[in-house]
Amino acid sequence: MSQDSRPFKRARSVTDGAESSDATPHGDFKRSEEFWMPDGNIVLIAGETAFRVYRGLLALQSTVFADLFASSSPNAEESYEDCPLIRLTDSPHDLAHLLRVLLPTSRMLLQRREDDPQLSLHQISAIIRLTHKYHIEDLHGQALYVLQDAFGPRSLRKWEDDFCSALLSWDDAGPIAVVNIARLTDTPSLLPIALYECCNLGEILIDGRKGEDGTVEHLSPADLKRCVRARNEFAKEASALTSTIFNSGPSGDCTTLDLCTASLHSFLVQIMTDGSVADSAVLENWDYVVRRGARPRNNQGYCSACERELLARASRETERVWSRLPKIFDIEVPNWDS
Ligand SMILES: [Zn+2]
Repeated sequence: MSQDSRPFKRARSVTDGAESSDATPHGDFKRSEEFWMPDGNIVLIAGETAFRVYRGLLALQSTVFADLFASSSPNAEESYEDCPLIRLTDSPHDLAHLLRVLLPTSRMLLQRREDDPQLSLHQISAIIRLTHKYHIEDLHGQALYVLQDAFGPRSLRKWEDDFCSALLSWDDAGPIAVVNIARLTDTPSLLPIALYECCNLGEILIDGRKGEDGTVEHLSPADLKRCVRARNEFAKEASALTSTIFNSGPSGDCTTLDLCTASLHSFLVQIMTDGSVADSAVLENWDYVVRRGARPRNNQGYCSACERELLARASRETERVWSRLPKIFDIEVPNWDS
């Protein structure tokens, strides 16, 4: 669609769902290629992009839009071809993600198919933020469900086996966005896993997460502090786990006690010095490390009875740390690990 050269008249300005009396000087906005309906009857402006859409459809789905449109009175200064202009403070990328769901122009879903592509965290976080802001409750709940499918409460085993989601894909810095969404929407069940993943981000945690429009989001100072403190706690836990798993003697079923005692000792020295036990990944990798020290893979290793015993200890110990996650992060999470 070619760009219209006619300038838009002054647009009304809206901040966080509330109207502002500040009029924005008119300018040359570019039409959204995806959402410029020739018979649309309202023009939403986000950033430099104008979306010509249907006010009735949006008003039916959002009480905030309904109130906003009801209070807009189109006149020569604030309209484009008789459509009221409404300026929003949202990113045009975010608004497009919301409109794709509210006013689908290409793909309509009755039910998800197995081979459907995953939703991106950019899409889902935009939809959650804007459905929160514009009070679109049903869609808000659906989008939060997608996030909870990946980051919501579940057992440690399920998280270990399947920390991925058929519904959602995310980038390395994604957990930062998930923590911020949990705060925005008061959904504490998302916090333990998202904060734990933030603790494993290294420098990315400081650099923040870049959005589609180039803006960078960070954790709040309070949550950043939580992560720094938790890393210290995880380092202590990793040390305690290492000792409990590898320094509590051979299995009661072991038939090669002397050999396994020596094996356990030398393997403990090895993993303490070769970096196998990463402090911040205290919930992960223990099964892999335990198996690495067993006899089939390690000529000097411990027997299969000891391997089973060590795996059981690792499971008990990581379950213990898992159940402590809310306490470690100093957050309240109802029904965690229930
Ligand atoms: Zn043994």
